[in-house]
Parts: sequence; structure tokens; C-alpha cells
Amino acid sequence: MTSSNANPSTNKDLGVQGYAVPSEVPTHWYNVMADLPEAVPPHLNPGTREPIKPEELEPLFAKALIAQEFSTERYIEIPAPVREIYSQWRPSPLIRAARLEQRLGTKARLYFKYEGVSPAGSHKPNSAVAQAYYNAIEGTTKLTTETGAGQWGASLAMACALFDLECEVYQVRSSFDAKPYRRMQMETYGASCYSSPSDRTESGRKMRVDFPDTSGSLGMAISEAIEVAVKDPNAHYSLGSVLNHVVIHQSVIGQEAIEQLKAAGEKGADIVFGCAGGGSNLGGLSAPFLGQNLREGTKTRLVAVEPAACPSITQGEYRYDFGDTSNTTPLLKMYTLGTDFVPDPIHAGGLRYHGMAPILSHAINLGLMEAIALPQDQTFAAGIEFARAEGIIPAPESTHAIAGALDYIKSGQAQDGEVIVIGLSGNGNLDLPAYAQTLSE
Ligand SMILES: *Cc1c(COP(=O)(O)O)cnc(C)c1O
Repeated sequence: MTSSNANPSTNKDLGVQGYAVPSEVPTHWYNVMADLPEAVPPHLNPGTREPIKPEELEPLFAKALIAQEFSTERYIEIPAPVREIYSQWRPSPLIRAARLEQRLGTKARLYFKYEGVSPAGSHKPNSAVAQAYYNAIEGTTKLTTETGAGQWGASLAMACALFDLECEVYQVRSSFDAKPYRRMQMETYGASCYSSPSDRTESGRKMRVDFPDTSGSLGMAISEAIEVAVKDPNAHYSLGSVLNHVVIHQSVIGQEAIEQLKAAGEKGADIVFGCAGGGSNLGGLSAPFLGQNLREGTKTRLVAVEPAACPSITQGEYRYDFGDTSNTTPLLKMYTLGTDFVPDPIHAGGLRYHGMAPILSHAINLGLMEAIALPQDQTFAAGIEFARAEGIIPAPESTHAIAGALDYIKSGQAQDGEVIVIGLSGNGNLDLPAYAQTLSE
């Protein structure tokens, strides 16, 4: 599973108390579809309502990515160029939150898996690099995408720069206005970034007429990015979450965490908290633990923490729905609030998605994972408490995972000696205005 050319010193560079546990970059992605007791319901062609065929997705995605979307292989080899780029920041550190434990007065053992060390500041390059790579080797010259908070756009912009691809990003209007640094980051990498809904696409123009005051949504931005990709034979579309292949790419997080817990002398994790937007960081962290539960009978609890303002799992329905507002994507079986749901413009822009990854939706529906929803004031309070104990300012999205764990500890549910893992999906260094606003309230 691991090889020796990784650089374990990555783990020491963070300067955070507690300890960072060495491990290596996985050689394969893990695909939980191989271990689930029932197959994940297939994506459907919206016209025929038949399972979509791989070739129907070819206008949008690289063939290798489509193959992964349908794959039930347990392990998929990570191509050497992708792994080489990963090794710039992977393995990402697993850190014992010793000072936070002390402040909380808990005898539970609290760890966080920190994805904020990537160049873009979140877990998203784990998939962006893979997607750019496969598109580049298959001859695509341009990728289009949507972005909410800007993390995915920045990650894909970086990956496209590394593989010499053009990159066109549609950013949800509320985030475009509130987070100018993300656009600057994308442009520094050479990408173009537009506020969505834009006047560059038919779907965008229609939405601007129908909803002139809209703050935008990921669903709308997806419609625009897909339209541009479908109309350009040299372009493909790229999605930063939700789809099976994205969850597969993110599995490096959980595989490393399992090895790192072992290296720290732990038997495993008792409970894992991850924030849930479209499900990619949570899926990446939790799927390898879920696979262990299914294959080896371990009993790691896996908890999705979503925002109360966009509670797709806890308040949505489990049914087939479109991934975008213009109803152009295949139908995905998922927990959904409906494609016309436009959440309040909360700070955690990356969690403002109406649906949830089909893989995770299926696992939750089978009772293999749990979900809770927390309000923004509670998540930011947790983020600030974490920053003051551990030094890292978490991304607003990641504060949900922290708040889930803190709530678990403070409400007395955590047993002495229990091992708790928080998925810290990114840093909040470009989200400081959101913290400033919270502190002044
Ligand atoms: C995008 C993002 C998320 C939410 O997306 P998922 O696909 O649910 O992981 C969470 N955290 C950070 C830091 C993000 O950038």
C-alpha cells in the first residue's frame, strides 16, 4: 500500500503542539464501492431514466475518470505523476490536538487530519490534480468548472497550471463578491474566473432574467460550466465533489489517517467527524474507515456534520435529482433539498450544495454513517476555540467538523480513552473577513 519515496518530514513542518505522525503517500486510491453490501444506485439518463452509459458522459469527462465513476475495483493505482505532485504536501499531517484536549479537560484522545497544508489550502487538490492529469493525457486542452467558496476553483486552477491546461471557473456570485482573494489566486495560476450567474452562457443569462437578485448557487454555476464544456470539443468539465471518482481520489486522506493512527499506537478510531458539503472530504476521510468496518468488523462511527442552513442529509429526501439548477446533469440518487434550493449566503460557501454524494447518501441510507446539522454561530465558536488552542485557523467549512467533535465531548458523550478524529479539510487564511464578522457580532 505504501512505498518509500515519500517525505515524512512534511509532518514536522507544521510547528503545532501535540504530535504529527509520520506515514507515506498511498500508492492506490481506495474505492468503497467494492465493499458496500449493496451496489450504489446508478446515475440515470434523465431522458430515458435508464442507467447512464459510460459513453454518454464522454462530452464531459476524461475516459479514465468515467471508468472510475463506474468502477467496483477496491484499489485503483495512483499514476506516478499524480503521486509525485501529491508528495509535495502528502501525507498530510495527523495531529494530536493535545492543547485542545487540555483546555476541554477531556480524557478522550482528539486528533485532526489536516488538509490545509496543500498549496490551495484544502483537500480539493487531491482530486483536482488527478482530474487535470487524466484530461491532459487524453488530449483535452481546457477544463471548465464551478466553485462555491473558491477552494475548488483555486485547486483546479493550480492543477491546470501544472499540466498546462486552460481553466475557466464560474464562481457563485455571493462568494465572488465576498472572497476576492480566491479569484486572485485563480488568476495567479492563469485561470479565468467569472461571477455566476454570468452573461457568458445561455443558462446564466436565463437565470439573470428569472432571478435578478440571486446570490447564486453551486447548482447554477455547474449549469454554466457544463454548457461551456459541452459546446467546446476541446474542453471538458470538472466537478470538485459529489461524484464517485472525486470521492475515490479523496480516499488518500482516510488511508493515511488509518496508517498514522497505527503509527501513533492507537488501535483505530472510535468516531470520525467530517464536514459535509458535496461529501468529498468526508467521503475521503471516512470511506477507508467504513471499508474496515465492513471487511474487518471494526466499529468506527462516521459522522457527517452539515450546516443548519443547508441540511441536505438531515432535512432532504433520498431520491433521484439533478446535480445542477438547469437540470442538465445525469440524475443522481442522493439526499437532496431540490435543485431550486438556494441556501442563505453563509460563510461556509463550500457547504452550500443542495445534494450529497451518491456514495455517502447510499451509506447513510444503509445506516452505515450518521449525520447532524449545526448552526453557523456554533461552528464559528468552535473554530475560534480550535484556533486559539492549536494555532490553525480552520476553513469555515471545517469548523463544522470541529463543532461536531466539541459538542460530542462537551455533552459528555465521549468516553475516557476514546479516539476521536476530526477532518480538518482546510485552513481559513483567506476567510478572515468571516472570522472578523463573527468576532464583531
Ligand atoms: C469545498 C470544501 C468543503 C466541502 O466540500 P466537500 O466536497 O463536502 O468536501 C469542505 N471543506 C473545505 C475546506 C472546502 O474547501
